[in-house]
Amino acid sequence: MEIYYIVVFFIFGAILGSFYNVVGYRIPKGESIIFPSSHCTNCGHKLKSYELVPIFSFLFLRGKCSKCKQRISWFYTIFEILTGLLFVLCYCIFKDSIIDLLIALTFISMLIIIFVSDFHYLIIPDSVLLISSIILLVELIVKNGLSNFYVPLINGCLSFIIMYAIKLLGDFIFKKESMGGGDIKLLFVIGMVLGFPQALFSIFVGSLVGLPIAFVILLKKNDHVIPFGPLLGVGSIIVMLTQFNVMDFFNSMI
Ligand SMILES: [Zn+2]
Repeated sequence: MEIYYIVVFFIFGAILGSFYNVVGYRIPKGESIIFPSSHCTNCGHKLKSYELVPIFSFLFLRGKCSKCKQRISWFYTIFEILTGLLFVLCYCIFKDSIIDLLIALTFISMLIIIFVSDFHYLIIPDSVLLISSIILLVELIVKNGLSNFYVPLINGCLSFIIMYAIKLLGDFIFKKESMGGGDIKLLFVIGMVLGFPQALFSIFVGSLVGLPIAFVILLKKNDHVIPFGPLLGVGSIIVMLTQFNVMDFFNSMI
């Protein structure tokens, strides 16, 4: 039975991952996420239903457009597999509590969309932050009770303020804009979900994990701008999935 759920969560994640990729790619350009339907970016060939199956279509088409034979980026397929794996991990870790599982899946979905748009355009869309924070707030209220509705909001505000202070410090040190407004707003949502000071720990983990990734990005793109959103995303996903509690850790050290 367990394997059945794992397969279902993987397929569910891979399909959503494919959709999130479209959302993250189109929203910053102001395009509709439904029309036009998915097409080859080279020849405009509209993808038929059998060409839209996550992972399998890529293997079946051998990574090429069926019409113009232009190579399809493996980025999409890796992305679908990763989203599927993250959904499976969420299921395995949070299966005892449906609301915790829902919060984890919503949070990861938001971070994946942000990952795509920040990676491609250096933009974290306000609409994505707004819609996800409303859904997450409702889920957190269901989890903690209506009388504690303000707890995630306070955690979000504290994380936002600290991130803003880090930005001001960065601007002062580097004598230029060190961080975009989107990164600071994103910390509000991360703070809401992970709590305070857990959210700050995710900045640290993200920066640590991000060093090699940032190095690759600097080699590939020549503009020397590293999107911080994806790193924050990776950091907070690690903090959430490992359920590492920074306060418990420090208390155990004393
Ligand atoms: Zn084509």
